[in-house]
Amino acid sequence: MSAIIIDGKEISKKVKEEVRLEVEKLKSQGIPPKLTVVLVGDDPASQVYVRNKEKSARKVGIESDTIRLPAETSEEELVELVKKLNDDESVNGILVQLPLPDHISKDRIIETISPMKDADGFHPYNLGRLMAGLETVIPCTPNGIMRMLDEIGFELKGKNAVVIGRSVIVGKPVAQLLLSRHATVTTCHSRTKNLEFYTKNADVLVVAVGRPEMIRGEQIKEGAVVIDVGINRKEDGKLVGDVHFESASEVASWITPVPGGVGPMTVAMLLYNTVYLTKKQHGIV
Ligand code: NAD
Repeated sequence: MSAIIIDGKEISKKVKEEVRLEVEKLKSQGIPPKLTVVLVGDDPASQVYVRNKEKSARKVGIESDTIRLPAETSEEELVELVKKLNDDESVNGILVQLPLPDHISKDRIIETISPMKDADGFHPYNLGRLMAGLETVIPCTPNGIMRMLDEIGFELKGKNAVVIGRSVIVGKPVAQLLLSRHATVTTCHSRTKNLEFYTKNADVLVVAVGRPEMIRGEQIKEGAVVIDVGINRKEDGKLVGDVHFESASEVASWITPVPGGVGPMTVAMLLYNTVYLTKKQHGIV
C-alpha cells in the first residue's frame, strides 16, 4: 500500500481563501481585523514563525503588526503590554510567541491575554470551554488537524484515535476534539508502556512528540490515517517529522508530510481565529 498524501499546503490555501473572503466582508462593514504578535527575545525559529504569520496575515488582508521586545524584558513589562493590547479596540487578536525567556511565566502571560482576543486559543477559559463542548476559539494546530481530517472525508465516529503527546498546545486539545467527534481516544505520552500496543490499534494516529522519525511503519495499523505534527531538524539539516515517512507510507492509507503538512495548517487556522475573534467582538457570531 502507498499512502495518499494529505497536502497541508493545498488545504491551507483553501482555508486562507475562505478567511480572505471573510476579511473582505468585514472590511466592507468598516471592521478591519487586526492581529498583534508579541515576540520577546531573538530565538531564530520564533523569528521565522513570526515573520511567516505576519506575511500570511497581510496576504489575506488582516492588518498585522509585530511588537519585538528584547530578551531582558521583565514579566511585569510584558504583562503591562498585554493589558494595553487588551484595552486597544483596534486589536482583535493577540498572540505572544512561545517559548518565552525563562524568567517570564508563560502561564501568567497567557492568562493575562483577554480570552476574547486569544488568537492561539491557549487561555484556560477557552480551553475550558473546549473541554465543556462549548463553542470557542480553538488552538490552531489541533483545529488544523481536524480540518485536514474533514477534507479527506474521514468519519471519526466509533474509530480508534491515538494521540501521542499530551501538551496543552497540541496533544490535549486534539484528543478533546477527536472525542467530541465520537472517536474512542487514547492519549499516550512519555510514561506510556508498550506504545506499540496502542499505535497498532489506531485508525487515526496523531503524533506530537518532537522526536525525529520515532514512529515507523511497523508500529502503524494497516490503512491508518497518520497525522505527523513533529517538526525536527536533523543533523544534516533535513526537516523531518515524528513519523518515519517512507516506512509509514507503506502501511497508512493517508499521511501528512513534513514539511507541507500540519505546519501550513497551523498558520491558516491562526488567521481563521483572528477573524472569528473579530466577529465575536462585534457580535457577528
Ligand atoms: P511538548 O514537548 O510540549 O510535548 C511533547 C509530548 O511528547 C509530551 O506530552 C511527552 O509526554 C510526549 N513524549 C515525549 N517523549 C515521548 C516518548 N518517547 N513516547 C511517547 N510520548 C513522548 O511538544 P509540543 O509542543 O506538543 O510539540 C510536539 C512536536 O510538534 C514538536 O516537534 C513541535 O515542534 C511540533 N509542533 C508543530 C506544530 C506545527 O504547526 N506543525 C505546532 C506545534 C508543535
